[in-house]
Amino acid sequence: MSKQEEFEARLLELPIVEFGYLKADAVEFVDRVRKVCQEYCPQYGKSWACPPAVGTVDECRKRCQQFSDFFVFTTVAEVADISDMEETLATREGHEEVTRQVRDIFREIYGDCIVLSTESCAICSRCTYPNQPCRHPERMLPCVESYGIVVTDLAEKAGITFFADYNTVVWFSAVFFNGQ
Ligand code: SF4
Repeated sequence: MSKQEEFEARLLELPIVEFGYLKADAVEFVDRVRKVCQEYCPQYGKSWACPPAVGTVDECRKRCQQFSDFFVFTTVAEVADISDMEETLATREGHEEVTRQVRDIFREIYGDCIVLSTESCAICSRCTYPNQPCRHPERMLPCVESYGIVVTDLAEKAGITFFADYNTVVWFSAVFFNGQ
């Protein structure tokens, strides 16, 4: 069995809806995305999982480009109204837990990797940033957009077909890894 076959067999244990692969050099790191964080996201400068704590977009790019391959996957959650942010965000922890399980499978089969998830970290009620180190570095997953990555565009390129509707939240995570 190849590493990829072993990996995909393990994914069947998890509630992943779709997944796809690209080469890491197909991933664009876009400064404009960082500007959106800075101008519109209330978490900017408030979390170890977000900018500027994650480094410049160029530093993020260099970190990720040490790996040859890119993997993206989705989980979904049902909500009464996707525009209700409280209800929508409450479904995120399930996705974060799946993402940690995916990370553990990657580490077991492929070794070191970088795992990015969705939105800012919400593990602690108050983040220690910037005065103390992160309390849970093993659980914390940096936000994919914080790296300057437009994950939905990449998901589409990787063959993911289903995107959110009024009652369905689609959560994305991404992994940089060495496939060989
Ligand atoms: S785990 Fe806690 S300290 Fe670390 S980034 Fe998340 S909220 Fe901040």
